[in-house]
Amino acid sequence: IVPITCKICGGFKMKTNILVEYDGGGYSGCIWEWNYFYIDEDGKFEDIMSSGRGGITTLENAKYLLENNGNDFSDKVFVYHLDDKKDMKTFATESNCCNIEGVINWFNKYNSPIAEPFAICSDCKCDMPDADEIYLTDIHGCGGIMSTADNLLCSECYSSGICNCCDEYAGKNDLFYLVNYTVENEYMNKAAKKMETDGYLDVCSGCLDCQAGQIEQDEHGDLLFQSLSTGKPDLFAGEMRWFWL
Ligand SMILES: [Zn+2]
Ligand SMILES: [Zn+2]
Ligand SMILES: [Zn+2]
Repeated sequence: IVPITCKICGGFKMKTNILVEYDGGGYSGCIWEWNYFYIDEDGKFEDIMSSGRGGITTLENAKYLLENNGNDFSDKVFVYHLDDKKDMKTFATESNCCNIEGVINWFNKYNSPIAEPFAICSDCKCDMPDADEIYLTDIHGCGGIMSTADNLLCSECYSSGICNCCDEYAGKNDLFYLVNYTVENEYMNKAAKKMETDGYLDVCSGCLDCQAGQIEQDEHGDLLFQSLSTGKPDLFAGEMRWFWL
């Protein structure tokens, strides 16, 4: 999206009510490499995030960046018109999740009825204009103290991905529905049965593994006691093989 030039003099005409995303020249390979500013409907400059040597903090530098579609530090500039739903959808799908949330949070505080960017839920694809309702998931480090997220979820999708047992977000790929749960591992099945009986509906693999391990340990303890006290099963029998491993 290229800024418009004046029809009369051919000079650069500042677009207004735009969100500008540019490469600030800092933290290469990490999320805060992307910087943002906003030009409001009256042409006023607002710095949303600026970092690195190329961080822009004045209207003059913002104009220079837009006129030249870059500057000494940045050759990647994206302009999103806040009144254009298509532009804002592009912002919500192409930008880094943490930055989307950060930008929306800034606009929530700025509180202008004509400047309301939104995020899109990674699961159900609903629009999320409120930063408080956005949940970042699949967070992983990205060098140094920085971290980034791969998913943005609405509160409904987020809560449906929470493990009933540890209350942590697990996501649908790591969450097991316990009703009629069957796998080859007998301890896993016993664990699922027990947790279902305990009143859980969806649990994460970590909790299920932990429960299965607990059951296995308990059963082995009982079996060992029985073997040592009664001689049945024999300590060298096949079913006591785990004891010797
Ligand atoms: Zn002109
Ligand atoms: Zn959703
Ligand atoms: Zn869990």
